[in-house]
Amino acid sequence: MPSPVGHVIAGVAAGVLVNRRSPLAAMVVFGAAAAAPDLDLIAGVHRGASHSAGAALLAGAAGWILWRLTPSLRARGPAWRFALAVAAAYATHIVTDMVSDDSRPPIGCMALWPFTDAYYQGPFILFLPVSRAYWRLRAWTENAKAVALEIAVLGPMLWASLRTRNQ
Ligand SMILES: [Zn+2]
Repeated sequence: MPSPVGHVIAGVAAGVLVNRRSPLAAMVVFGAAAAAPDLDLIAGVHRGASHSAGAALLAGAAGWILWRLTPSLRARGPAWRFALAVAAAYATHIVTDMVSDDSRPPIGCMALWPFTDAYYQGPFILFLPVSRAYWRLRAWTENAKAVALEIAVLGPMLWASLRTRNQ
């Protein structure tokens, strides 16, 4: 799985691409939405229903409610566009997880929940695994390599997306 750094970069890039008139607060929401699926780790689950198209739709619905409650977002475009941007930011988490090294079965993500509980892995591996064995020095060096690769791959996408941003 990519690190939170990679997830946030991908989420902000996708959110701004969909919703070009995004203030900084909206970009924070996109980044949070992209990192949110891994909160399932708190419950001891990983890559289950939180890593799915159904959960991305729910995130979009939450974005729509947030738009209704936030006047500064309402001034920057329609609710559907902000909701779609939040759903897209959330969905980047699933896509990037599916093309990352996963050593913990079941391999892949429950990407099409609630239609099926099957796990899906991407056709290739792009991102390195991130170790949570923080007490091991080797985990830190491996994670630094993983984050550097994520920035190298996703950073240019964020840069290109931010260039389309229209404040
Ligand atoms: Zn994940």
